[in-house]
Order: sequence, then C-alpha cells, then structure tokens
Amino acid sequence: MLRMTLIFGALALTASPVATAPLAAQDATGDEDDVIFLTPNSVPRRAPTGPDAAPSPPDSETPRQRPDAPAGPRSRGAPPSVLVILAHPDDEITIAPVLARIMREGGSVTLAFATSGDVGPGVSGMEPGAELAALREDEARCSAFALGLPEPLFWQFGDGQLASMARAPDSRARQLGAKIAALIGELRPEVVMTWGPDGGYGHADHRMVSNLVTEAVQAMDTSRPELLYPAFPADEGTPEQFAGWAKTHPSLVTDRIRYEFADLEATRIAIDCHQSQFGAEERAVLPDLLHRGVWQGQVHFRLAFPASE
Ligand SMILES: [Zn+2]
Repeated sequence: MLRMTLIFGALALTASPVATAPLAAQDATGDEDDVIFLTPNSVPRRAPTGPDAAPSPPDSETPRQRPDAPAGPRSRGAPPSVLVILAHPDDEITIAPVLARIMREGGSVTLAFATSGDVGPGVSGMEPGAELAALREDEARCSAFALGLPEPLFWQFGDGQLASMARAPDSRARQLGAKIAALIGELRPEVVMTWGPDGGYGHADHRMVSNLVTEAVQAMDTSRPELLYPAFPADEGTPEQFAGWAKTHPSLVTDRIRYEFADLEATRIAIDCHQSQFGAEERAVLPDLLHRGVWQGQVHFRLAFPASE
C-alpha cells in the first residue's frame, strides 16, 4: 500500500551535482540535471547546480518548455527495458510518470507485485482476503494500462507476510527471492527498479521487496542490470503530507528523470484507478500534490549498483 495522505514523505530539488546518470533524461546539451516546468505553478526549489547547469528561470510565472530527449541511459541512447518489482498495487504511483514516459518513448516496462494488497482495504471498507486482493489487482491493471504498461505480474505472496520467518528454508521471502532472480534472468532487463532500503515510509513489505531484489541483483555477475531506488531528497519546503517518508541525501541522488505533461496526465488516470485506497478527494488532489510538491517535473532515483560491463 502507498501511504500518502498521512505519511508520504518529502523530496525536492536540493541536490548536489549528479555524479552519474545512467537512466537520466539526456539532451543535446547534456544538462540532465535540468528541470522541466510543466505548469506555471510548478515552482522549483533550487536552481540546477554544477558545471553544466542551465540558468535559473526568471520566475515561476514563465514556465519553460524545451525539447526533451529519450529516457534511455546515455550510454545506450534508447529507452531502456525496465523491470519494476514492488510490494503492493498502488506502490507504482511513486514512480508513475517515469514509467509512462519510458513506455511512451518506446521502452519496455514489466511491473511485478509481490503481494496483491489483500490486507490493505484502504477506504473501501472491505474485509481482508481474496475479494479485496482481486479488486486491488484490477486497480493495478487499470493503473498499468493508464501508464501504457502491459498487464502486471501478481505473485500473490501474503500482504504483510514477507518478513515473516524470513530465514526459514521455505519462507515467503526465499520463495519471492527465487521468483525475482528467475524473472531477472528471463527478461534480462537493462534496469531494475524497486523500493529503497527504507521502503519509502518504512513498510515492512516494501523493505523486504527492496532487500530481496537487491540480494538477487548483487549476486549477478554478467548481465547485471542497473538497480535504481526511488529517492526522496530532503527539503524544508516539503508538503506536510509527505513528512514521514525517508530521505536520501542529495549527494546520493544519481538520476533525475524528467517527465512530460502527457506522463503526468497518465499518472492522474493511474492514481484514479486506486479507488479502494484513496477517496475521491484524495485521488483528485494527489497527482498535483506529487507533481508540485514532490517530483517537480522529475523523479529522483539512487543507483544502487551499476550494470555489469
Ligand atoms: Zn505498498
């Protein structure tokens, strides 16, 4: 589940110059650290820094649009193949506009959910169980299709159970780890995305998925994909709704992937799919809250491991 209304955390653009940007949006000038302004009110909280930084905009009333570039890693110059592994339906919202962009530009995204959120009724009033899981899978399909993705994979490990007896030989964690490794081996993605070790706001399932994906990738030798965690740089101007989210020090943010208006619109539709999790008013305001208060035109990531050479 994605706890946004109470504990969604902070990020903004207080980052230092980017050291590497394997998946960052690139353009002819190489200033992937730049911000694209999607609406007149999407005000950046910092000017880009570093030797290639673009000049700051004169003010927030003069939105700057500029040609964008493919979302692919700069070393390849093409939209990447990406495998996204998350814990629950609606977790994908955290990085939704980037997923929409990759698909829009001709990349591929496979989205897998470790659980189907069967103990997370949200605002639905439903009892935990199979009926709720089925509804949340439908909501995840709706969201994925809105973002241009194919149908997600649902591994249906128990919601809230991933950390239980993890050490045991037949634990859910070990079974999930085997599935993750097998899927990476099957798809051979260029990039894998999952929760960071913080789990966003600390959810145990998020932490376990992060842990198990990391475990699988770190064990690989050749054909190891890039592993990216969503990153939430700290900023004093962050909306209070996101105060509980874990921060990543800006110096560790490696990728700032811009998105376009079309991707934000796709995200808006995707968020509206999760009707069991958010009330109508929340679904209406969440996209702009994320866009203006959190993403501000680009989703941040931390590169855990580079791809193998
Ligand atoms: Zn979740």
